[in-house]
Amino acid sequence: HKPPLLISACLLGQPVRYDGQSKSQDAACLTQLAAHYQLLPVCPECAGGLPVPRPAAEIIHGDGRQVLLGQARVVTASGEDVSQPFKAGAELTLQLAKQYGCQLALLKANSPSCGNRDIYDGSFSQQLQHGQGVTAALLQQHGLQVFNENEIDQLLALVTDMR
Ligand code: SF4
Repeated sequence: HKPPLLISACLLGQPVRYDGQSKSQDAACLTQLAAHYQLLPVCPECAGGLPVPRPAAEIIHGDGRQVLLGQARVVTASGEDVSQPFKAGAELTLQLAKQYGCQLALLKANSPSCGNRDIYDGSFSQQLQHGQGVTAALLQQHGLQVFNENEIDQLLALVTDMR
């Protein structure tokens, strides 16, 4: 029985990013992950009802935790507020995690939904700041451990520890 692992769909090669592209990891790495984990692909922004492609969005005046509290907003470069679909997508992703008893997630770094450590700072100038995306924040608040694609080694080390 393999432990379930939520994974950003774009990391698995699904073309769900705002620009219609994916961020697929190399095949050997994905094979290794699939050998140890039951992969549950999810794109929180698509789950929240946003289309592909869609305008890039960033969190202004805070991070995902503040968005969940209604104290910060997710906006597109043209100023459209997309906080609601981002929050809806986070909730649906949490429901999926609960449904499968999932305690681990591998989410795309730096995304306003999926970023587990850093996100863009809301200036739309490629500036990162410390903070979490909306989905990463909600999952962490519910006890999931969230990794990004640069931390796959740690995730694989964990599964050997579980044995
Ligand atoms: Fe990938 Fe997450 Fe962005 Fe969807 S919301 S495209 S899964 S980074």
